[in-house]
Amino acid sequence: MANIGLYIELKNGAFKKANRELLSLAARGGHNVHAIVFCADARPYLEELKGVQVIVQVQGADLAYQPDRYAATLAAIIEEYKLDVFLGAFSAQGKDLFPRLAAKAKAGLVSDCLAVDLDKRQAVKPVYSGKLLAEYRVAGPRALFTVRPNVIPVEPPAAGGAPELKSRALDTGEPRTRIVEVIQSASQRVDLTEAEIIISGGRAMKAQENFAVLEDLARVLNAGVGASRAAVDAGFASSDMQVGQTGKVVNPKLYIACGISGAIQHFVGMKTSKVIVAVNKDPEAPIFKKADYGIVGDLFTVVPLLNEELKKALG
Ligand SMILES: Cc1cc2nc3c(=O)[nH]c(=O)nc-3n(C[C@H](O)[C@H](O)[C@H](O)COP(=O)(O)OP(=O)(O)OC[C@H]3O[C@@H](n4cnc5c(N)ncnc54)[C@H](O)[C@@H]3O)c2cc1C
Repeated sequence: MANIGLYIELKNGAFKKANRELLSLAARGGHNVHAIVFCADARPYLEELKGVQVIVQVQGADLAYQPDRYAATLAAIIEEYKLDVFLGAFSAQGKDLFPRLAAKAKAGLVSDCLAVDLDKRQAVKPVYSGKLLAEYRVAGPRALFTVRPNVIPVEPPAAGGAPELKSRALDTGEPRTRIVEVIQSASQRVDLTEAEIIISGGRAMKAQENFAVLEDLARVLNAGVGASRAAVDAGFASSDMQVGQTGKVVNPKLYIACGISGAIQHFVGMKTSKVIVAVNKDPEAPIFKKADYGIVGDLFTVVPLLNEELKKALG
């Protein structure tokens, strides 16, 4: 039985869905699971953290995310609780934090994992822009993995007694890097990396205001709105909406690509979507070779029709 640690990510105090996926992964195989939460009082998250054995709440005067302080604190916790494997989400924060933590904790790190075998400390991850899946094994005594959101199915929490609640002070050493400001996207209602449904627009959107047609459909489906790089470069969409090799890697249940040709650099960012629907007026567009369902037509006609029908169907 291994000692597993989980980095629990909170967004403005809210428990992120990716945490539930990590909990489901850690619960497999009867391991001793420790959840690390940076908050003054972790008790409001007890229900969410059902099934873990130990909760470590990290307390301090200023708990806003600061990479060096978080990494130093987590490295000390890994040492103190003798955690063999430490997991986090491959989120913007996970990407920033885990390499620093790996260096501090002198641990091996495999990032952007699609599957992790906790006993063998082995993981599968995409390489070469998703052209291959590679298997990595961490040989040292400590292994760190970041897991791509939306890959691990969420399972009901394992039954168990109340977790032990421990506290630890945040490291207050002088950080070498400091986050000065976090600019929240004004438009994004749903975090693309965690979204279950994404509707993306490409160059064919022609103007920023035309994204309203996708926003309308997104509201009906509670979806996130993404974009191709061509749409971002043309100023139709903000850069945080870009999906692809140089944008976000997403993994929704449903990805609807509107007026997107299907270039490889876009495809690698959404190819693991469970179902891909393409709307394109060119029947020869490469996206149709990759899509599960294709609609040949003008997106400005097709998307409002879809919207109308879905509204009726969903009541
Ligand atoms: C190093 C590098 C990194 C890159 N990274 C990314 C990345 O992260 N993400 C990304 O997306 N791209 C990326 N690209 C760019 C990529 O190669 C493509 O240029 C880009 O994805 C094309 O965007 P698009 O499909 O929106 O535009 P286009 O390729 O111009 O396609 C527009 C499509 O819209 C269709 N269309 C036009 N009007 C309509 C209409 N009214 N209704 C329906 N369909 C219509 C057309 O038939 C066409 O298929 C990268 C490129 C490089 C070199």
